[in-house]
Formats: sequence, structure tokens, C-alpha cells
Amino acid sequence: MEKPFSTGLVWFRRDLRTDDHTALEEARARCRQVHCVFVLDTEILDGLPRADRRVEFILACLTALDGDLQALGGDPACGLIVTHARAVDELPRLARELGAQAVFTARDYEPKACGRDAKVRGVLAAQGISFVAVKDQVVFEGMEVATLAGGPYTVFTPYKNAWLKKVGDWPLVGADPQPAASQPAGSLLPRPEHYRRAVPALAAIGFEATNMASLKIPAGQAGAQQLFADFFQRMDSYHETRDYPAVKGPSYLGVHLRFGTVSIRKLVATAMARSAQGRPGAAVWLSELVWREFYFSILANFPQVAERAFKPAYDRIEWEKGARAKSLFAAWCEGRTGYPLVDAAMAQINQTGYMHNRLRMVAASFLVKHLGLDWRWGEQYFATHLNDFDLAANNGGWQWVASSGCDAQPYFRIFNPVAQSEKFDAAGKFIRRYVPQLARLTDAQIHAPWTVPSLALHEAGVRLGENYPRPVVDHVAARAQTLARYSVVKSIR
Ligand code: FAD
Repeated sequence: MEKPFSTGLVWFRRDLRTDDHTALEEARARCRQVHCVFVLDTEILDGLPRADRRVEFILACLTALDGDLQALGGDPACGLIVTHARAVDELPRLARELGAQAVFTARDYEPKACGRDAKVRGVLAAQGISFVAVKDQVVFEGMEVATLAGGPYTVFTPYKNAWLKKVGDWPLVGADPQPAASQPAGSLLPRPEHYRRAVPALAAIGFEATNMASLKIPAGQAGAQQLFADFFQRMDSYHETRDYPAVKGPSYLGVHLRFGTVSIRKLVATAMARSAQGRPGAAVWLSELVWREFYFSILANFPQVAERAFKPAYDRIEWEKGARAKSLFAAWCEGRTGYPLVDAAMAQINQTGYMHNRLRMVAASFLVKHLGLDWRWGEQYFATHLNDFDLAANNGGWQWVASSGCDAQPYFRIFNPVAQSEKFDAAGKFIRRYVPQLARLTDAQIHAPWTVPSLALHEAGVRLGENYPRPVVDHVAARAQTLARYSVVKSIR
């Protein structure tokens, strides 16, 4: 059967790999030849701080992807076309210039991205060019996992059970039969001469360097494979190690899942196989990947959560406002709350762009339930600073902590930051790494320095209010205030 299109254009976005890449496979199945493009979208980039670790990560991934495409095409001319422009204008322009009859891309579920894609689809249609969006970021999207009544799940455990049932017999990799599978895959086209150039440097797109280079986060699909190979050795003990921030327990693949340098289907297939061998670590890790899918499905089916509480009653809560609220927020952002584990967590995100999952819960809970600040303030801070920021997971995490989300922590559950510290960083190893001025306190003292006798503080070189802050709020008083603040939701559920 003849392929329907002569020339196709694959538009890469958050899928920066060639391995198990559904849009690329679809394009090569349906086109005789394909071009590949990434647009450094000014509409997104212009909204970012001028120094942003993620921009450096993306550029490194694009360089790797360019090399991977050249290898796939067997010709250095067959690399990635990279342009810096407004994607809604640039894509149709490029499609025209390259003579593409169809643009292939992986579906995005974030409200703004959906709006952008709808516009691009419209402009392309007016030019007689097809827009083909395929599933890639998730195993199941939209309503593929639905309740018996045909609606979206809003509670995780039944969602997970239905998800596992659906995925059970399903061949994860190479699952979707390609329309022209019997034919050879379309070839990668050499780029026109003026696009055969290196990925732009940071300065060329108006950004400055951060400390990203010193963090040595491996980029590109080879980087993702390296991290996964490392994690695979630890996967079996994930259930025992994942809650302790001083321990190398999690996979650190978040940023790779965010930018699609790794195939979610392959990760799920490996975790499932390992879990089927009776390894609890793999089963728990698989569950985390299902949480990721759950929050994608919540965002896709309830896009209003990007702005508002999932449970409308929680929008009636009155958060702190004014100068004191702003100064408490600044203390939280800068790791000056006087609660060592919270401050260490904030130092971790500020210095590295990563924060351990347990600490995300502790730090977020502190902002909402100790400082009485609107969860959206913290959500926005994480959105700007996390390398792995993902709207669905971040919003889900914040609304879970604020109790306003679907299947969230009950509002009266308030993490005690000292108890969390004693439990999950008992020896204070993580705190010592990120709050070094407390390093000489004993393991018992380090979690709550304000309770330490002054002589012991003096001997440890800790001067409260000088080189380490006193607590900005009192836990017991803050807890009582939060219960009062949340009482407006009691009557309405
Ligand atoms: P691992 O423990 O190795 O987990 C593997 C992958 O599973 C993660 O990379 C992630 O894709 C997924 N995952 C794990 N836990 C969750 C979860 N609770 N919800 C959704 N997906 C999960 N995750 C993000 O990817 N982006 C965010 O912006 C984000 N913001 C968060 C904000 C808050 C307040 C909270 C409580 C959690 C947030 N999470 C977010 C979830 C989780 O903290 C991170 O996915 C995880 O810490 C990333 O580290 P890792 O890759 O080493 O995770």
C-alpha cells in the first residue's frame, strides 16, 4: 500500500528521544520521508527567568537528539532542525517551507499547550496540511481508564487497580499497529543547508548560565539510560529507601520523564516485569508511575485544577495576606523558617532544582498548614525552580498537601516538621548537607535547635537569630490556626 504522505514533519516537544518515539514511528510509517524539528518557543521561554536550569537541560538534550537523529538517518545532514520563534507561527511556516503534507507530534495535556496545538492545527488545516497528534507521554490518556459509569476516576486506588488491569495483557512497547507496518519506515530527510547548524548556545536565546554544569545531570536519552541503569540496581529496595532524603533511594528520572528522554512504556514494562517476579520495590515504583498517570488524567479531565481547588469548597479558605504573609513566604523560599528539615529542603531545590519527594510533602505542607499561605504561591515557586516541573504532578502534589485535591490528605492531617525530621532524617545527615551551620549539633538536637540549651548551641557554633533563624511560627499555635482556617470546608464536601 502506498504511504499516504510523501513528506512529513515531526514536531518534537517534550519527547526528546528517538527510542520508542510514537510520533516519529507514526510519521515514518505514513510518510516516505520525514524532517524533524524542535522550536525553542519564545512564548514559553519569554516567561522564564533569564537563568533557568531547564533551558540548559533542554539545549543539552537537543544536541544529543540531533546526534541520535543523524545516526538514525545515517547522514550528518539528517539531524534536528532547531529554530527559535513563536511555535504557533513557526510550525506552519516550516511545514510550508519544507513541503510537508502532515505534521506529527505527541499529544500534550496542559491547558496552554492544548490551546497552542488547536491553533497550529487550525492554521495547518487552512494550508491543507494534516496535524496528527499521537499518545506518547503516558501509557493511558484522557478517559482510557474510566469508571464503570464511564467517568474519570477521582480516587487513586481504584484508578490504579483499573490501570493495572488494563495494562495487564497489553504489550506495552510496539503496542499500536502502524497503518503501514508492512512497509519500510520512511527515511529521514537531509536538512536544507541553512538548517544544518549546531543547537543555539544559551546566550544566543537570551539566557545566562546557572550552576547546571556543576550538577552533572546526564542529558539526552543516553543520560536517561545511564540513570535508569543505576536505579535498576536499587529498584528492589525502593520501597525501603524512598522516604529518606539522605539516601540515594529514588530514580532521579523526573526531569527525563518531564522532557521525554525516556519512554514511559519501557519504564512501566520493566517495573511490571520486575514486580511480577515478586519484588516489592518495583511494585511501589510502578505505583509512583501510576500516580503520574493519575494526575495527568485529573488535569486532562478537570483542567480547572490548574487555577482552582479540585474541591470547590476549598476555594473559600482565607489565606494569609499582606506584608507578614509576604515576609513568611520569603523566609520559606529562602530556607529561613527556623525548621531545619524545611530549610534543608528549600536549600536543595534552590541549589539543585531537585527536591526529594518526602521533602516536597513536608515543605509544601509547612507553607500551607504552618504559614497559612495559598498553596498556589508554593506551586508557582516549585514550577519555577523544579527541573522536573510538570503541571499535572505539581498541581496534584500541592492540592494533595493542601487537602483541596481529589483523594488528598484530610485537612486535619498536619505534618509536624520536627517529627518528620526525626523520622526521615534521624541522623540529620541531609540537614547537615544543606544547612551546614547546624552540622555540629548532635543527631538529637539538630531537628529543633530552639529547644537546645544555650551552652550546647554555643559549643556547636549555632547563634539563633544570627547564623540560623528562630522558628518563624510555633507548631502548636500554627496547627490550631490552620484547623480554624479550614473549618469553612467542614460543612461542604
Ligand atoms: P521516583 O521516586 O524515582 O519516581 C519515579 C517517577 O514517578 C517520577 O520521576 C515521577 O515521574 C513519578 N512520580 C513519583 N511520585 C509521584 C507523585 N507523587 N505524583 C506524580 N508523579 C510521581 N513530580 C514531578 O514529576 N513534577 C513536579 O512538578 C512535581 N511536583 C510535586 C510537588 C509536590 C508538592 C509534591 C508532594 C510532589 C511533586 N511531584 C512532582 C511528585 C514527586 O515528588 C516527584 O515526581 C519525585 O520526587 C521525582 O523524583 P524521582 O524522579 O527521583 O522520583
